[in-house]
Amino acid sequence: MQIIDPTIKVLLIDNHQADEGSIEQLLSKIKSQKIQLFKYHDLTSAWEFLQQHSLNIVLLNLDEEPKNSLSRLAKIKQVDNREFATIVIIEKKFLTEALIAAVEDYLIREEISASLLEKTILFAGERHQYIQELQRVKQRSSEIHLELLKLQDLFQAIVNNTSTLVWMIDVRENYTFLNQAWLSFTGQKKDTGLQENWKDRIHPEDLAKCKLAYETALNKCQGFQIEYRLSRSDSTYRTILNTAVRRYNSRGKFAGFLCSCLDVTQRRKIEGKMMQQAQSDRILAEITQNIHSSLNFDVILQTAADEVNQFLQADRIFILEIEQQQQLILLFESISADLPLSCEISAIDKLPNKKLTENFQRLSRGEIITEDNTSLSEIINNSNLEVASIAYSLLLVPIISHHRLWGLLCVEHNLYPRYWKQLEIKLLQRVAIQLGITIKQSQLYQELERANQELVELVVVDSLTKVANRHKFDKYLEVEWKRCTREQNFLSLILCDIDYFKLYNDTYGHQAGDRCLTKVAQAIAKVVKRPADLVARYGGEEFAVILPNTNTLGAKYIAKQIRLQVEALKAPHINSPIDLYVTLSLGVAGCIPDSSLDFSALVEAADKGLYKAKELGRNRVIEFEIHR
Ligand code: GH3
Ligand code: MG
Ligand code: MG
Repeated sequence: MQIIDPTIKVLLIDNHQADEGSIEQLLSKIKSQKIQLFKYHDLTSAWEFLQQHSLNIVLLNLDEEPKNSLSRLAKIKQVDNREFATIVIIEKKFLTEALIAAVEDYLIREEISASLLEKTILFAGERHQYIQELQRVKQRSSEIHLELLKLQDLFQAIVNNTSTLVWMIDVRENYTFLNQAWLSFTGQKKDTGLQENWKDRIHPEDLAKCKLAYETALNKCQGFQIEYRLSRSDSTYRTILNTAVRRYNSRGKFAGFLCSCLDVTQRRKIEGKMMQQAQSDRILAEITQNIHSSLNFDVILQTAADEVNQFLQADRIFILEIEQQQQLILLFESISADLPLSCEISAIDKLPNKKLTENFQRLSRGEIITEDNTSLSEIINNSNLEVASIAYSLLLVPIISHHRLWGLLCVEHNLYPRYWKQLEIKLLQRVAIQLGITIKQSQLYQELERANQELVELVVVDSLTKVANRHKFDKYLEVEWKRCTREQNFLSLILCDIDYFKLYNDTYGHQAGDRCLTKVAQAIAKVVKRPADLVARYGGEEFAVILPNTNTLGAKYIAKQIRLQVEALKAPHINSPIDLYVTLSLGVAGCIPDSSLDFSALVEAADKGLYKAKELGRNRVIEFEIHR
């Protein structure tokens, strides 16, 4: 801000002979501090001073006619553009002259006084200062106006040379400005464009949110940013990001918005693709992880179908296995919750195998087959299917396992044709590859299971005691039972159990317990001599002896021999409540089996005998009769 000097600079030109010094005397009486006085005797000598200094007042007290000096003063004002007020001190008779010269003020010499002089000078000086200030303000205002015009030109140049759509809208929702990019985008002329309603070009689905954003921004007088679809001259929609900033009128009042819009269609498309790609990668990673962490074939396939369907949002996804003679078996399916009832029957169910088998060669090569209602129309005609139950878009992805076409991953979309995106097809292909691996893995697993089972069956010897194992016992008993039933021969069974063996372990330790078990087994085996007899480890510290062609008496004899043999081991068992050594309790049962009986009856009876032996005090043989 410019600081205004309050001093009133006065140049006195005084050559009046008659009252020489009197004006000066009057001036010296003036009390105001504001007045700064300069003095010259005539205009000629003051000329240079006048040209070099800015003054507020020139006070003339001349003894000549004022006409001449006034015209000279006027000249200096005109030529040198000096600004000052002129006050003349004149005799009454020259008053008209002064008035004609349009001096700012005059004083009649005859009436002059110090206070009048002071008042006149102060008044003229302040008025002159005020006029000067007014001129400065005017000057500044015209400069600002010029700058504003330049800025406006610059704004126009910028907004008309940008590809960003720029427009202005007032508080009554009327367009007030549209830039060149906007006109090109909409294909409008400037005047017709300005007549448009801003809502007309917005996608109907985006209109509500745009109205809300605009109304809120208007109410709060604040800018906003919003993304929506705007229709272009070719009637296609582009996604734009609109940034609206507040505008004010020349009185500083809120006047609407200046909007600038970026076309973000491409960016959003790429982002959408990237998101889809990420989602597709996630699904694949999950399916792959699932495959590697689970051996449950059913769970893997069902989750794969569900996950893929979540991504594709298809009506139905299903996995078909191709059996021999190219029969299709539906294994798993994932159906959209809002699949119309009319589409409940999948088209593929009704698809004649012929149609598929035609494609089998291509599918076997790993090719993907897409079918739609056009290619299916022939089938519709031939199969009397209702049109609604036919898939309009069907995608068949081969699942190859062990280098052969194992099955199909099928995606079906009903009611309207669907264009399958490259990303979707790719995902399905990758899932199908993973499923192929699962199938291979699952088949290998099943083979492994079978091999393991066979291996278990092949192993018949108990690894600790080296007598037959339980598996062998079960098989042998079954076989001998059948044989003795056929041949009507006796079959006997002895069940042996070491007495207080838990105490044995507690006393001597588990490893000593294992050694004891081996010794007892060998002792039993020593007694049993016939080739058809079988000694087996029945469980923990229990042994069983199958004695084909042996009656109960014979079996009882063997059992007693076994008991004695174990006793003879003299294996110390100091904590046994019944003896100092390891002892055995034995249950015996025998019969001639017939079809009214099951071999479990024999086991049950021997077990009951053993239980009785324990009950009666252990270290003994008890026979138990089979109840028919
Ligand atoms: P009972 O006279 O009533 O038969 O008494 P028990 O202690 O022999 O019978 P129980 O069934 O209470 O305990 C059987 C014990 O046999 C418990 C278990 O630790 C032991 N046992 C089973 N199998 C083995 C094995 O392979 N090695 C060893 N060391 N001990 C075994
Ligand atoms: Mg036992
Ligand atoms: Mg025991």
